[in-house]
Amino acid sequence: MTTRTRQHNVTAAKWSANGSGLGAADLTDEKNNPFGANVFSAAVQKDRLSKDTFSKLQSTLEHGDALDPSTADEVAEAMKQWALERGATHYTHVFQPLTGLTAEKHDSFFEPDGSGGAIAEFSGTELIQGEPDASSFPTGGIRATFEARGYTAWDPTSPAFILENPNGALLCIPTAFASWTGEALDAKIPLLRSMDALSKSAIRALRILGDEESQRVFTTVGPEQEYFLIDQQYYFERPDLVTTGRTLFGAKPPKGHELDDHYFGSIPERILAYMLDTETELRKLGVPVKTRHNEVAPGQYEIAPIFENSNVGSDHQQLMMQIMQNTARKYGLVCLLHEKPFAGVNGSGKHNNWSMGTDTGHNLLDPGATPADNMNFLFFCAAVIQAVNKHQGLLRASVANIGQDHRLGANEAPPAIISIFLGAELEKVFSAIESGEGDPHTPASFLELGASVLPPLPMHGGDRNRTSPFAFTGNKFEFRALGSSMSLAFPNTVLNTIVAEAIDELSDKVEQKVSAGSDVAEALTDVVKESYAANKAIVFGGDNYDEAWHAEAERRGLKNLRTTPDALPEVLTDPTIEAFGKYAVLSERELESRYEVWVEQYVMRANIEAETAESIARTIILPAALRYLALIDDAEVSGIAEQVKPLVEELSAAIAKLAEANEYPDGVEGLELAQYARDNQITAMAEVREVADRLEKVVADDLWPLPKYSEILFVR
Ligand code: ADP
Ligand code: MG
Repeated sequence: MTTRTRQHNVTAAKWSANGSGLGAADLTDEKNNPFGANVFSAAVQKDRLSKDTFSKLQSTLEHGDALDPSTADEVAEAMKQWALERGATHYTHVFQPLTGLTAEKHDSFFEPDGSGGAIAEFSGTELIQGEPDASSFPTGGIRATFEARGYTAWDPTSPAFILENPNGALLCIPTAFASWTGEALDAKIPLLRSMDALSKSAIRALRILGDEESQRVFTTVGPEQEYFLIDQQYYFERPDLVTTGRTLFGAKPPKGHELDDHYFGSIPERILAYMLDTETELRKLGVPVKTRHNEVAPGQYEIAPIFENSNVGSDHQQLMMQIMQNTARKYGLVCLLHEKPFAGVNGSGKHNNWSMGTDTGHNLLDPGATPADNMNFLFFCAAVIQAVNKHQGLLRASVANIGQDHRLGANEAPPAIISIFLGAELEKVFSAIESGEGDPHTPASFLELGASVLPPLPMHGGDRNRTSPFAFTGNKFEFRALGSSMSLAFPNTVLNTIVAEAIDELSDKVEQKVSAGSDVAEALTDVVKESYAANKAIVFGGDNYDEAWHAEAERRGLKNLRTTPDALPEVLTDPTIEAFGKYAVLSERELESRYEVWVEQYVMRANIEAETAESIARTIILPAALRYLALIDDAEVSGIAEQVKPLVEELSAAIAKLAEANEYPDGVEGLELAQYARDNQITAMAEVREVADRLEKVVADDLWPLPKYSEILFVR
């Protein structure tokens, strides 16, 4: 792909109704199911709306203006007709409450007409605003006192779509979810606010950089989603999987069992059928899926859509996870999105490719071909480095959940320490700018360092470091620390907000220097130089798994927040509150509500896991071990009982300890309770598991009551 087409993709990504960088032809593989067939796309709108209404709606989308309510009735009528023709009987406002999941409440289009029949009703008011009976969604106290309800508001920038079901179809309207007092109760509102913030900062900077043309900057996201597929029969035989999404027990299969050729190996027939079906469904919904391949672990796969603007990309990602899970059931499979379904086997993450692009088609993180492009690029890149360094703790917190604690901070990619990989070439460029001198290979002209003499940067996407949590990959940054089950919304909200802040900080400095008499190019170079010098501690090109890096990171003063209870307080630090407040992305109260919800979710999930583990150990595993002991006693073969008995005693003792940990101490709550759960329940659970897994290896196979890893992990 040339630089130009890539840049145009950014425009296409933001504008086309399906939101993707590809034309329909590229993604359509069936005549009857063209790409986006179930999307109320720009093409459909153009077809069905009056010229006037269509252009009003488009201008809302293009300029981020508020929607003219007078157009809503006509849009609603057109949307309803279109949906009815496609078999829809119900509509729903889809929203993303703070649980990280997607929620919907279905309403029928049909209202009794008073004479025994029914007419389809769906007005502009119903399109624009809904009132779900959503008082049970977590709000971290925001609505607790006087107003239990919230309302959903149509987001016209994310296209409506139809979900098919064998027994009907459902019109889904992407919406935001807020309290009556205007506070965000969802993941979408702050994301939209952060996109606005970044656009304003970036446009301001672009003016300084001499761009008079661009009117809006869009952030883009392209996720790479990892997941496991297992046979549903095994799933239902594992109460731990059903209840917690991960196996709480299970010994590692014999060495060498993980066939080396799984990664990028050939895909089994049933899996391939599943993938093709999932992709077809997603394409109908306008989700631009592209790649599929096996991942590192057995039973693990990856799917990646083409990047879109952050809002549409984030909505599509929620939809994708839903379709992936639903489709699996058709093939007798279950799709596991948990970050660590199997101990000792690679977990699942989600790489978040992120960039910024103008409405004129320019990717701001593309090094470009001219010296002026280079200066732009270095400026925005420096802003990202500064933002990530300043808010490293918040970024870590943005990817924290209980499943992630088995990956980040444990012995798996990527580490809990946030650092940036720039690649050898780019790092050299920044170092040269910082020191004013290059190594013998740096072109001589480069050393003058005026923007006008910067040579084309010799960057290519091939320079990779798979261990870095935040890597520059040619024309975008790849935030690799997201968990596989996560919504993209908050991590991208954080990225957009902190980069908006850093862009403004750098712009302020450039303006100060210019008013003190510098020329712009000189001021820009100086600002990039100062910023890099102040923030380069966050840049690391080496092996992030290496123990030596942990020591080095500590020496550099980087944060190492290993667990969710360590990371979450970063949501409420002064720099976070300041940045989110300055850009009106989340108020302190809104941040507090999120923090409370996330702490509570951690506690709840830890407790569900710990109680499930206790119950399985006590009522399933221990009895199996006792049955085996009876068998041994009957056989009266010397030596065997002596091996097994102590294990059973150990198990029994470990269960007692877990039961004790599962009794909360009085008066402990909030973060303290989360810490209690981590230090007591989770550790006690690990001890029970450790013994149980040793027992699994000695108890007669036909007596072992749970499907083993060696069975579950290989789908045939
Ligand atoms: P590679 O596979 O070499 O990492 P790709 O170009 O295939 O590179 O990108 C991987 C992911 O990054 C895809 O989801 C892709 O759509 C996304 N991506 C590419 N360019 C951008 C961009 N400008 N902004 C956000 N995501 C992007
Ligand atoms: Mg990747």
